[in-house]
Amino acid sequence: MPTLTRAITHIPIRLDAANVGKLAQLDALAEAYKALCQQYVTAFCTDVEPDKYADAWLDSALSARWQRVVIQHAAGVAQSWRTNRNRAHQAYLDELAEQQEQTDPQHSVPPWREWQTPTLKQTVIQANANVVILEPSEDSTFDYWLRVSTLDKRQPIRIPVRLAAYHRRVLTGCTPNTSMTLTRKPSGWWLTLTVNESLAAATTVESPVVGVDVGITNFLTTSTGKRYGTFHGKLARRHQQDREKRRRKARLRACLKKKGVTRLPSLTNQRLARHVRQEINLAVNQFYADHLDHQIAYEDLDVRTMRFKARRANAYLYASNLAHLPRQLAWGAKKRGQTIHAGWAAYSSQECSRCHFVSRANRPEQQTFCCQACGFQLNADENAAINHQARFHDRDMRACRSKEAVKALLDARHVAWLQSPDSRSLSARREPAFGCESISGQSGVGHHSGSRRRKHPPRAS
Ligand SMILES: [Zn+2]
Repeated sequence: MPTLTRAITHIPIRLDAANVGKLAQLDALAEAYKALCQQYVTAFCTDVEPDKYADAWLDSALSARWQRVVIQHAAGVAQSWRTNRNRAHQAYLDELAEQQEQTDPQHSVPPWREWQTPTLKQTVIQANANVVILEPSEDSTFDYWLRVSTLDKRQPIRIPVRLAAYHRRVLTGCTPNTSMTLTRKPSGWWLTLTVNESLAAATTVESPVVGVDVGITNFLTTSTGKRYGTFHGKLARRHQQDREKRRRKARLRACLKKKGVTRLPSLTNQRLARHVRQEINLAVNQFYADHLDHQIAYEDLDVRTMRFKARRANAYLYASNLAHLPRQLAWGAKKRGQTIHAGWAAYSSQECSRCHFVSRANRPEQQTFCCQACGFQLNADENAAINHQARFHDRDMRACRSKEAVKALLDARHVAWLQSPDSRSLSARREPAFGCESISGQSGVGHHSGSRRRKHPPRAS
């Protein structure tokens, strides 16, 4: 049975006047934790491979148990930083290679700038049962005691935890996990607990698979030809207004800075970001309402890679919000008990879903897919979604260890397709003059498009 780990956030830890000493101990612990964690993060990003179980090698006032917790935390931060950095670098190299192929002066790739290693800004303690224990309280005024080991050996502090009615409701019938997070904010300390929930599986291995492509023109495009949400239209206009506002704000900031003002206005627009997330959630929910009994296939796309893609579409700003999309899609499947799998993203937008021919030229423009080998034509996102769907059960492709291996596999498949009866019957029907044929019925090409220009005019028939 699948289980879901749900976070219960925003549990305030209120330490009143009687607990000033405990608060000071907690703060001192957090200072030492953060300083050590930062050192390990930097080391794991630059000198040493991230290893959650590495032996401690740095000096610290923290106990050995706390040091182990810190190393786990730091290894996690460094691992995701390394993964993201390497993916972005690979995307940059790909972009560069494409540019050299094309020799298009219009399309120049900005030089690679090496990433800075992460700086821990917030004070966050990721604790487990070795250092922090949650004990149910016998006292009726509290729900739990939090027993925290401190810098003083064998002198843990006990902090009362009082839940809100909402938290109690969520926790009814479940026991919190032993791992928890303590966060220090200007407003005080906050606790996050997690609980495991068992879910009834909504899909089996035999359930139908729907492929989903994540994008800007449409948030989600399915292999069944459906589309959900878009960054164009209203959202794009709000983004435009936001950009102008940010420019004005930036000028104001520069001006204030000159005058020596330290509290400068923020450049981020929280309301717009929230609005975009709501639109994304809406699209994802609609998608799941239409695909209750399906397994989901999408692509393993990194946000930084998406940012790269988006730059080409001159929509750099959208990309920051795009990150929410695949996350929300995966979470949506998990909480509904539906299987979701992220497959290889490589060439999914350039591969012909009919004959497997791979070429950049198959994308004469952003929204159209037109196979240069077999003439297959479809909305580009839908073609990609069909490829994701096909890759769900594709063991050979899952076994590929590199982009090059994926390319070789697809090339071999295209050659095989050329010798297949499908190919021969198609070429018998095809007109000698090459053109893009429309696959009617399933494509949906031409619907939902205000701005799309046709480079290949439809043939008169
Ligand atoms: Zn083709």
